[in-house]
Amino acid sequence: MMKKFYIETFGCQMNAHDSEKVIGTLLARGYEQTETPAEADLLLYNTCSIRDKAEQKVFHRLDQFKREHKGKTFGVLGCVAQQEGEKIFDRAPHVDLVCGSASYNKLPEMLIQLESGAKRVTGLSLDTDETFETPLTRRDNPYRAFLTIIEGCDKSCAYCVVPFTRGPERSRTSDSVLRESFELSSMGYTEIMLLGQNVNSYRDPSPAGLDFAALLRAVGQVPGIRRVRFTTSHPRDFQKDIIDAIGENESLCNHVHLPVQSGSSEVLARMLRQYTRDEYMRRIDWMKNAKRDIAITTDIIVGFPGETDKDFEATLRLLDEVQFESMFSFKYSKRPNTPALQYEDHLPEEEKQRRLLILQEKQRQIQIRRNAAYVGQVHEVLVETFNSATQQWVGKTSQHKPLNFTHVSQGPEAALQGTYLPVRVTRAGPNSLVGESLQ
Ligand code: SAM
Ligand code: SF4
Repeated sequence: MMKKFYIETFGCQMNAHDSEKVIGTLLARGYEQTETPAEADLLLYNTCSIRDKAEQKVFHRLDQFKREHKGKTFGVLGCVAQQEGEKIFDRAPHVDLVCGSASYNKLPEMLIQLESGAKRVTGLSLDTDETFETPLTRRDNPYRAFLTIIEGCDKSCAYCVVPFTRGPERSRTSDSVLRESFELSSMGYTEIMLLGQNVNSYRDPSPAGLDFAALLRAVGQVPGIRRVRFTTSHPRDFQKDIIDAIGENESLCNHVHLPVQSGSSEVLARMLRQYTRDEYMRRIDWMKNAKRDIAITTDIIVGFPGETDKDFEATLRLLDEVQFESMFSFKYSKRPNTPALQYEDHLPEEEKQRRLLILQEKQRQIQIRRNAAYVGQVHEVLVETFNSATQQWVGKTSQHKPLNFTHVSQGPEAALQGTYLPVRVTRAGPNSLVGESLQ
């Protein structure tokens, strides 16, 4: 019987957390995780299909697996598995398992089938009311835990494949979220990251009926939990009570990731984002007027079909107005099944690339200015690791800003990981801060 597995994970935090759940399930069935595919009998590939030529990359990697690890058992998990389905068996006949994220709760049964030699095992149904919960989750980071509160997405942004790969929205009960938060605290975790494609549309299906802000407050009150983060927020469903909750509760991190995608209302309408530039800016104003200094980060897509120079300039102006703390930026890429595929006026690759570079340079300048303003301030840092190349400790502030710092007891033997330290910022770069610990 095969007993060793290797897993490779691509994509967002949801995918990373899904892999933690899959790993926990396999360990509970007596499997052992290996660091390299060569040592494993079962090779799993948790895929992402959000951008680029994701499918091609997956098939390329599967071919590589086949050449280098003949005769082993192969499984494709995640978004490309859901999107391509049984077609994967046709293009890569050596694959034995194809399973999308909505079916991970059936993984134990699928493993039994694989163990008894079954081929072409699938878990592809999106028709599920269950959210995947497993007490077996094997978390990677000993201090920060991911916790899913809502699966799937009911929006249908014109460029996005997620509703097809992760299915409709399913919220978890608040009881179950809180039970897991207490468990995490008793296991020594002090930071929780609440996950969902659109956490703001969280609706507690139990009689307690909490909305997202109420759930956030409740998790923030779990004893021992010092930091609560959440991602991703959709501007349309983002309500002011979330800002009020952050203002009133120090354990809720003062960071909000609010993807705008474009600064042009015309482009937003064609993206089917369901908000205008002005509506987005109203939410920014709420945050700028909040009791605490909230770091705002965003996602932007350049070169959406039909994006004119004027539209793009509106996005650049939005960057100037908001002064985001940081930004993820992407060139629009065509995704299967999505409405934007049918749109006319797809932009040439070179033009998308040109806009991306302009956008990124503008944001770099903003970050240089913003970060310089941190010099002299003291921030509490959750220490993550020691970087022996720079001889600095590495941690994050509540605003999710990377802060590298020196400490009187230098070197990994000081074992500061997982502690919270006050650090004075002494220097700033575009992407991180440098400082000295005060304790
Ligand atoms: N649910 C989140 C939201 O609505 O903002 C984000 C989901 S997605 C995993 C993360 C980011 O990928 C999006 O915010 C968007 O900027 C980007 N993205 C999604 N589809 C894309 C596409 N077809 N081309 C380029 N970027 C894309
Ligand atoms: Fe995709 Fe839009 Fe849903 Fe985010 S809200 S996952 S961008 S469809």
